[in-house]
Amino acid sequence: MRRIMEFTFGIPTKIFFGRDCILKNAAALTAIGSKAMLVTGKHSAKASGALDDVVSVLDKAAIGYVIFDEIENNPSVETVAKAAKIARQEEVDFVIGIGGGSPIDASKAIAVLAANKEMIVTDLFKNDFTKALPIVGIPTTAGTGSEATPYSVLLRKDMQTKVSFGTKDTFPAVAFVDAKYTMSLGKNSTISTAVDAFTHAFEGYLANRSTVISDCFALEAIKAFGKSMRKLAAFELDESDRENLMLVSLLGGIIIAQTGVTIAHGMGYCYTYFKGIPHGAANGLIMREYMKLNYDVAKDKIDTALEALGCESIDEFAGILREMLGAPPVLTSEEIELYTELTQIQKGSMANTPHKIDEKAIKYLWEHID
Ligand code: NAP
Ligand code: FE
Repeated sequence: MRRIMEFTFGIPTKIFFGRDCILKNAAALTAIGSKAMLVTGKHSAKASGALDDVVSVLDKAAIGYVIFDEIENNPSVETVAKAAKIARQEEVDFVIGIGGGSPIDASKAIAVLAANKEMIVTDLFKNDFTKALPIVGIPTTAGTGSEATPYSVLLRKDMQTKVSFGTKDTFPAVAFVDAKYTMSLGKNSTISTAVDAFTHAFEGYLANRSTVISDCFALEAIKAFGKSMRKLAAFELDESDRENLMLVSLLGGIIIAQTGVTIAHGMGYCYTYFKGIPHGAANGLIMREYMKLNYDVAKDKIDTALEALGCESIDEFAGILREMLGAPPVLTSEEIELYTELTQIQKGSMANTPHKIDEKAIKYLWEHID
């Protein structure tokens, strides 16, 4: 069936990529405002060297800042509400997220809440706001690409899952993408985050909302992942692999900002919420069955992606993922029922998957992942 060629493409984020890009482009950071909130987790902003680079540039330009370093993995609505209260009190006029996807996503929520004083945190998910403080994204993982997406994924205990929001106002204004910050990331986190980046590219490639332009980015990202994936599995990465994976991550963000994600992401949230499996690994564990389910409706694209990866079959690629991630947890029939029910909250991901996704398909997937 011929696809009608119709698309819009745009990303408002100014991206600086490369070694020492913050130090080399300091004016792009200091021109944004006069007082920043630096949003980080407990250790990685310091361990990666990213916080030092940001602080040295801000100090030199006499830009004020406050640091909020309490962002947890899978940031909660409670934590971003707490940070936003401080941002309002301190009257900051821009927000810098430094870290993995968690601090960068949190910075987007804080930027919206700080700019809209009447909003409460659960209002975020209505996507009904028209302003946010300017956001800067500085990734220290090569994974989410959050520096180039409008999305913010937050944990809602009341819903037993993660929920996302995002509008054109929550794209970072500027992103500084420097692979040197990922050198301090250990084996499991490096693998999990890289698999997240791959799934963005791959799901974006298959997505019903994919376009001819997003496909160009996706194929390039899938090819780049293929170049480093065997070294990733063995955790024998050199500087150029780190750079390569950072590129996959950034491209993955640009892709899903256009296409959205699909049901693999929608399902992965259950593994993360109930089993504590990191986001990227959660998606990766679902990949083999996800690829097989979609093969009948997306054969050409899946074959092209396998070729770009340098693999002959879904099973060969799944074997490499297994080497990276190990086996998925065994689920009880009660867990399968619960996960099937909760996955159906992710309506956007369901509708965006090429194979028809209904309750039956979701249950089939949960039953067959092994
Ligand atoms: P993360 O949750 O931000 O960080 C995971 C762990 O890695 C944290 O303990 C963190 O430490 C540590 N870490 C980060 N960088 C490090 C470094 N350079 N050296 C040493 N340790 C480091 O992980 P993530 O996978 O990047 O982000 C996952 C989150 O992003 C999830 O909530 C997911 O749902 C979301 N996500 C968002 C998008 C989007 O488009 N916005 C897309 C996909 C996923 P600290 O706690 O000290 O920081
Ligand atoms: Fe993701």
